[in-house]
Amino acid sequence: MLEISEPVVAVATPAAALQPLAQAFPQGPVVIIGSGYAGYGLAQALRNADPQLDIRVLTREDGRNYSKPALSIALAQGREPAALASESPLAVEQRLGIRVYSHCHVERIDSQQRRLYTNFGEMSYGQLVLASGASPVRLPIAGADDALLSVNNLHDYHTFRERLTGARRVAILGDGLIGCEFANDLAASGFEVSVIGLGNWPMERLLPQAVGQQLQDSLSGLGVRWHLGTTLERFERTAQGYHLELANGERLQVDMVLSAIGLRPNLELARDAGLDCARGILVDSHLQTSSPHIYAIGDCIEIDGQLLPYLAPINQGIQALAKTLLGQRAAVSYPLMPVTVKTPVAPLCLLPPPNGVEGRWNCTATDDGMSAVFEDARGAIHGFVLLGRQAQTQRSAWLQSCQANQQNVA
Ligand SMILES: Cc1cc2nc3c(=O)[nH]c(=O)nc-3n(C[C@H](O)[C@H](O)[C@H](O)COP(=O)(O)OP(=O)(O)OC[C@H]3O[C@@H](n4cnc5c(N)ncnc54)[C@H](O)[C@@H]3O)c2cc1C
Repeated sequence: MLEISEPVVAVATPAAALQPLAQAFPQGPVVIIGSGYAGYGLAQALRNADPQLDIRVLTREDGRNYSKPALSIALAQGREPAALASESPLAVEQRLGIRVYSHCHVERIDSQQRRLYTNFGEMSYGQLVLASGASPVRLPIAGADDALLSVNNLHDYHTFRERLTGARRVAILGDGLIGCEFANDLAASGFEVSVIGLGNWPMERLLPQAVGQQLQDSLSGLGVRWHLGTTLERFERTAQGYHLELANGERLQVDMVLSAIGLRPNLELARDAGLDCARGILVDSHLQTSSPHIYAIGDCIEIDGQLLPYLAPINQGIQALAKTLLGQRAAVSYPLMPVTVKTPVAPLCLLPPPNGVEGRWNCTATDDGMSAVFEDARGAIHGFVLLGRQAQTQRSAWLQSCQANQQNVA
């Protein structure tokens, strides 16, 4: 098998990155699998802390640096897919003095030998970081595989925009956070949008009913149609587009279907290497997996029974893991991290209550939306939802209350 410890792509890489391993880092390179927010963010933090470290990023994508959250708002902003990439992989290499191996698919990890097997050949590592993300959940519907498009990276987004050309009617499968963001973006851009979802109201798992219904009304005001409490059952390609049959008997004729029913951590590599996995790759507070010298970060991990598929927890992880990899073991700690939902028609910010806290939602209407707090039996606040511009002014006060009550619970 070909050894790929030497550069695959010939570029003017800063000398530091090409130093012999023994000089650059005694235990061999830090190899990061993944060029997403977690992978590139960690590479940057490591480079900031150590100008000499041999850092390599392996990615099965093309390695362009882009903002994933922009994918669900770019249409209405008039941004073309190509404009969403801020850097080419070569620019990342030169800026950070690292090696980026694009279109490099890691197929197997030998944790005993500290070796990776890829479609390009083999590579040894000193310390390995899995930043391998999550993949869209697919509805098992016969014949729908290619037609049910999910958008989880820049390549998907190019396909999405190509398929929108000449389309008018778009069905979105999934009434969760990402489905609602795309519904807002598409409807605000003039498309006829139908959302199909299992919930009784949008984002049912995150929002109390009154707020969810108000979000639904706001998106309806943009023209979004809702098919809730049901799912897609049958799917047929026709000369005019796609004919959809829903479990509740409704039928829709659309030009395109976007699937946004959730993401599942990528576990195969870790499982095959014998690492402990549950819903995600299991890591401890140092983001270390069950194998020494192998760490994980980002959408692929499960920590304390939780998946944390957002940027804010990745930022916390990057700071701690960079220190740990450089020899100063640091545990990650997560502050309370409210989530902003990018539905401009009804700005939304939420902090779900922690698992296991008993209580109920208390909702209050505002002039342009609603605010809701999750209170326990003593009236202490443990979570909140803010819908509309006016409600956003309460964010910092309620966040402080939640922080104080979290300390009391702890
Ligand atoms: C449309 C959308 C909008 C979002 N909006 C927000 C938002 O507003 N705010 C927020 O906080 N979060 C948002 N998120 C979530 C956030 O974007 C993710 O939590 C974050 O980008 C995950 O980064 P990651 O690096 O862990 O994973 P990814 O970005 O998925 O990167 C995974 C990387 O692993 C590589 N990889 C996987 N397996 C292999 C292999 N075997 N070999 C080689 N390479 C491999 C892939 O090539 C890829 O580079 C959004 C997500 C989506 C989909």
